[in-house]
Amino acid sequence: KVRVRFAPSPTGPLHMGGVRTALYNYLFAKQQGGDFILRIEDTDQTRFVPGAEEYIIESLKWCGITPDEGQGFGGNYGPYRQSERKAMYRQYAEQLVADGHAYYAFDSAEDLDRVRQMAKDAGSPNWQYNHITRNSMKNSLTLSQNEVEKKLEAGEPYVVRIKLNRNEEVKFEDIVRGWVSVNTNNMDDKVLFKSDGMPTYHLANIVDDHLMKISHVIRGEEWLPSAPLHVLLYRYLGWEATMPQFAHLPLLLKPDGNGKLNKRDGDRLGFPVFPIEWHNQENGEVFSGYRENGYFPDAFINMLAFLGWNPGTAQELFSLDELVAAFSLKKVNKAGARYDHDKTRWFNQQYLRHKSDAELGTLLQAEASEQGVEVSLEKAQAIAALMKERAYFIKDLWEDSQFFFSAPQVYDDKTLKKKWNQEARTHVAELQKRFEAISDFNTENIEEAFKAYLSENELGFGKVGPGFRLAVTGMGMGPSMFEICAILGKEETLSRLNQALE
Ligand code: GLU
Repeated sequence: KVRVRFAPSPTGPLHMGGVRTALYNYLFAKQQGGDFILRIEDTDQTRFVPGAEEYIIESLKWCGITPDEGQGFGGNYGPYRQSERKAMYRQYAEQLVADGHAYYAFDSAEDLDRVRQMAKDAGSPNWQYNHITRNSMKNSLTLSQNEVEKKLEAGEPYVVRIKLNRNEEVKFEDIVRGWVSVNTNNMDDKVLFKSDGMPTYHLANIVDDHLMKISHVIRGEEWLPSAPLHVLLYRYLGWEATMPQFAHLPLLLKPDGNGKLNKRDGDRLGFPVFPIEWHNQENGEVFSGYRENGYFPDAFINMLAFLGWNPGTAQELFSLDELVAAFSLKKVNKAGARYDHDKTRWFNQQYLRHKSDAELGTLLQAEASEQGVEVSLEKAQAIAALMKERAYFIKDLWEDSQFFFSAPQVYDDKTLKKKWNQEARTHVAELQKRFEAISDFNTENIEEAFKAYLSENELGFGKVGPGFRLAVTGMGMGPSMFEICAILGKEETLSRLNQALE
């Protein structure tokens, strides 16, 4: 059975790169009839940020990609927070030591600093703890068994490091990147376990993926360099036969393609990089989110799905269910995906346009109410239907429809100068009379009265229309005046014509 996990560390808000990883995991799981699991990787207590876990869960919920299982969602493989699984990891570190695949190292931070500095002075700045250097360090490979036991008994701080073989080619097939091969000579003996009883990310990640029966590891490209180490850990722990398949997702790049999109880019470049607003409880820092900026979650998700994947057809609009059906890890690109903010806005506009008038009416009504204006659902719907063509967001709808809610306070300057002359006033006064006579003030009747006036006096539309629009809306352009007047109602329309004539 397909079981995939999203395994964020609660070190801050989850930015859209993280959400994309979650999304691809979700899409793959749903398509394969599998499970999508949320695991919180909080073994590095020094980087823990309060509120981050709640933020992650709320973000996933807003996006509509809710885990089937995991932290906050229950399941049979818990606990799903690594700090609560602490007791499980030690035995695996000890097993690796007993099998000769790992060793204790007692080097203090000062010892390590000293050798690094010496290497630097000798012209090699990238000192590594590896098959060569470990021979002159303080560890269970160089110390006698007796000395090691004494140190352990005395409670001296230690770490457990993996013991890599010299000059061994580690190979695995990544679903996105194809065959990956790395020589152990270019790797170091990474720390797996620390004397504070906490595993490092590498050990905890492998143990949990194994115990949680994860079938596919789908994660960001920044983890690709760790994958060979993980492959060796599966081998050394005797779990190679059930090792998950890997898929490393391309980086999300800044709009100009120069480098990885990071959390500050949003504020700098004027768009959110977070799904929902983030408030750092510790230092008060705030980052804005897509939700608060008026994006629809399905539009955001649709945009995100295309950052690194495409269906190979011209279709761009996909509901979440359609994404599930169309998604394929094999079609994920290797090359980094550039974030495009105009495209993101375009997606939102498309989703707005495709909403029913009833839905838009409800949203517009809520927006108006937030701004302190009460409007009936019927009126909000009619306005939304008329105004939606140009809007990207509900707040555009609201702003563009201001003239429905209050009579003009200023009139468009250009139209005023060019069109608002004595003749225009005469026409507006005449229209006012004719409108007064309409008993059922609807679009058709208004249009009929207007056109009758034009034809009886052999007037072109351009002689009357602009002044009429200016008088009612204060603007030079906009949608059908007949519909606008019908929505405003007879009384309001007449009073506006009056106001313009004063
Ligand atoms: N905890 C890692 C992260 O924060 C998980 C990487 C992985 O999926 O293996 O991204």
